[in-house]
Amino acid sequence: HVYTNDEVRELIKKEDVRFLRLMFTDLFGTMKSVDLPISQLDKLLANKVMFDGSSIDGFVRIEESDMYLYPDMGTWLISPWGAEHGKVAQVICSVHLTNGEPFMGDPRNNLKRVLSEMKDAGFTAFNIGPEPEFFLFETDENGEPTLKVNDEENYFDLEAADKGEDCRRDIVLALEKLGFDVEAAHHEVAPGQHEVDFKYSDALEAADNIQIFKLVVKTIAKKYGFHATFMPKPLSGINGSGMHMNMSVFDQDGNTFYDENGKLQLSETAYKFLAGVMKHARAVTAICDPTVNSYKRLVPGYEAPVYVAWSAHNRSPMVRVPSDRGMGTRLELRSVDPSANPYLAIAAILAAGLDGLKNDLKPADSVDENIYTMTEEERVSREILTLPDTLHNALKSLATDEVVKAALGDHLFYNFMEAKTMEYDAYRQSVSRWEQDRYMSTY
Ligand code: GLU
Ligand code: MG
Ligand code: MG
Repeated sequence: HVYTNDEVRELIKKEDVRFLRLMFTDLFGTMKSVDLPISQLDKLLANKVMFDGSSIDGFVRIEESDMYLYPDMGTWLISPWGAEHGKVAQVICSVHLTNGEPFMGDPRNNLKRVLSEMKDAGFTAFNIGPEPEFFLFETDENGEPTLKVNDEENYFDLEAADKGEDCRRDIVLALEKLGFDVEAAHHEVAPGQHEVDFKYSDALEAADNIQIFKLVVKTIAKKYGFHATFMPKPLSGINGSGMHMNMSVFDQDGNTFYDENGKLQLSETAYKFLAGVMKHARAVTAICDPTVNSYKRLVPGYEAPVYVAWSAHNRSPMVRVPSDRGMGTRLELRSVDPSANPYLAIAAILAAGLDGLKNDLKPADSVDENIYTMTEEERVSREILTLPDTLHNALKSLATDEVVKAALGDHLFYNFMEAKTMEYDAYRQSVSRWEQDRYMSTY
């Protein structure tokens, strides 16, 4: 629902809201917020709330750092927390320049831009159903995260009176209070690892939901003495955390990925979209798996993809076709991890898919056998590429992929490349425990 100014005023009065929390997302996917007392409501509704953009990662513009927050009236919510100091209303904002133009370094504005290209191509929605996974770690007496998880449970295990389980239930309740349609919440394969799936929605709302979801998970976890992390691979030797993206493109007649007469009941549109995602997979991975640590998840043996392949029968490739058909027909991209900035990730995936549609691309044949046991020759003959094995190699692919670069736009692309190149360099220069253990006494 897109609230009018009058409705907002009424709601605020009725609920006795005392604070306004304005939220937006920086280049790295971190949610930023500015709190205002309710006395500033008129200013907010008039798009006159100013902030210093130069202190936000990836926003830096030397020429002008004054930026404005325009509330997105479709995202108003009365927060279920903080009521002890008076209720807080939260709203997601878009960032604008002093001349009123949307700032293209704002990842959310950029996603809107890519979505409007999709609409120009005749579609109405890019639906995304995310499956974020995360770990709950115990905190120490100072509230700092430890590397201890509190359970030894496994996928779908039924825990008896378990603190992690209680925490996850509380997370679901809080999400429902915020209007989320939670479809499933369960323990994941690794100890201390959980997943909460919520119903698909149009891309922009899905990205907003992911951001709010992370905030909710971290907030509730804290109440239980946990530290929740969306780091992709917190511990070696066990599964990492992914954020699978279920996706479908709709037009005014419904889901364009479904065709009852198509092969596997998938439409030509679905195959072309899939082909685009596969063609640009390496560059897309730089955006969807944007940390040094992301590449420690994309290794064989932990249910995370390593190869650019798709299948309707096999769970391990990069793209899986879940068995639902009709309105639920979708592709599941399994490479994405929850350290991705959801606005950038969704823009990159969509642009890759649209490129497949525009250029009538055809995907390679599906791979229904175990890719891990194939020889390299076999993989080459079946056109199975590998996903990048380091952030460095992913960035190299991104630098030469014009379609994915265009999906970020100049400002975001330049800042992303610069920041991530520095991140990789810092990592490369640090000497790890593994190296010391391995080399210290041998040499
Ligand atoms: N945790 C796995 C990953 O890293 C995914 C497990 C699953 O299939 O849900 O992607
Ligand atoms: Mg999972
Ligand atoms: Mg999945």
